[in-house]
Amino acid sequence: MSFDLASRLAARRAEHLYRQRPLLQSPQGPEVMVDGQRLLNFCSNDYLGLANHPEVIAAMQQGAAQWGVGGGASHLVIGHSTPHHQLEEALAEFTGRPRALLFSTGYMANLAAVTALVGQGDTVLQDRLNHASLLDAGLLSGARFSRYLHNDADSLAKRLGKAEGNTLIVTDGVFSMDGDLADLPAICRVARARGAWVMVDDAHGFGPLGATGGGVVEHFGLGPDEVPVLVGTLGKAFGTAGAFVAGSEELIETLIQFARPYIYTTSQPPAVACATLKSMELLRSEGWRREYLARLVARLREGAAQIGLSLMDSPTPIQPVLIGDSARALRLSALLRERGILVGAIRPPTVPAGSARLRITLSAAHSEAQLERLLDALAESWRQLVKEAENA
Ligand SMILES: *Cc1c(COP(=O)(O)O)cnc(C)c1O
Repeated sequence: MSFDLASRLAARRAEHLYRQRPLLQSPQGPEVMVDGQRLLNFCSNDYLGLANHPEVIAAMQQGAAQWGVGGGASHLVIGHSTPHHQLEEALAEFTGRPRALLFSTGYMANLAAVTALVGQGDTVLQDRLNHASLLDAGLLSGARFSRYLHNDADSLAKRLGKAEGNTLIVTDGVFSMDGDLADLPAICRVARARGAWVMVDDAHGFGPLGATGGGVVEHFGLGPDEVPVLVGTLGKAFGTAGAFVAGSEELIETLIQFARPYIYTTSQPPAVACATLKSMELLRSEGWRREYLARLVARLREGAAQIGLSLMDSPTPIQPVLIGDSARALRLSALLRERGILVGAIRPPTVPAGSARLRITLSAAHSEAQLERLLDALAESWRQLVKEAENA
């Protein structure tokens, strides 16, 4: 008997799917030190440039001085401290929902919400491109689980016709590897006609989208009647860590009573909640970050079209260049790195087979000159890749 890990790892390598972790030797920011090399970073989810903001850092330092470091216990025992509670109240107000519940990670928030709402005899329907944490939550719930075609309300309606029990429709708000928005108006219409609930995970929409950064629901003007379960994460545009579920009084009480990923874990350090209170204030009030970021997105799309790259149809700071083949995506990423630019190649199983891509992300912390450097490097690297293909 043996687990034979060596041959599993060798197979992964042979398929160009082997993962390696770049070692970050500096704080988050447009310029980073990675594996001893200074690089321009176009792969972080720090969309508004708040992860290393001096006021956010100061809030965390003050929080640690006042509240100590460790959360100490789970929320239900003695880990629910005043900063956690204040952050929940601020998140409820921000999202326009009666209540919000704080989690230590988005992965756990998703596991918690889905498993507390549906179980055996119920149905969960998910977009096939949903984040892995949502798909895992669907499997763990024990409900009948089916995936509909990406952003396709007709495909969803067909599956709804066969649904049994309580039915939960789950979708990313902004698709994390594609950058496109869920067609929430259509999804909510179909859901309402069948009495199903809609849960939106807007990890990438909070911050960049909506007039005050309120994400995809603010963008489309959807309230708690249309989207009763709203999830946001705090490690992306908020620049800190953690996640939340926002919704009705009854929804939040149900999670506190029944959601095992909420109950059986230690609360996040209270100082992190102090930092998030500050970053949320900046995210809401400094609208220039959103406006500037939108201008960078428009310039990137214009420049990429001139080079002849096939950008995916995305209005968000997630701007993937579709390549297809994993080895080619890795090669393009390596060519960019030789030119001092860090962009990750995203490969299966994170994305569907044959759809490897470079996932470029922009941040309000990037300067216009840095974006031009990316475009120059993309043009050179793309020419080189085409030449290599012709010679092969
Ligand atoms: C990042 C992400 C998560 C997980 O959030 P963490 O706080 O990083 O665990 C969940 N859903 C989506 C769509 C994400 O992009």
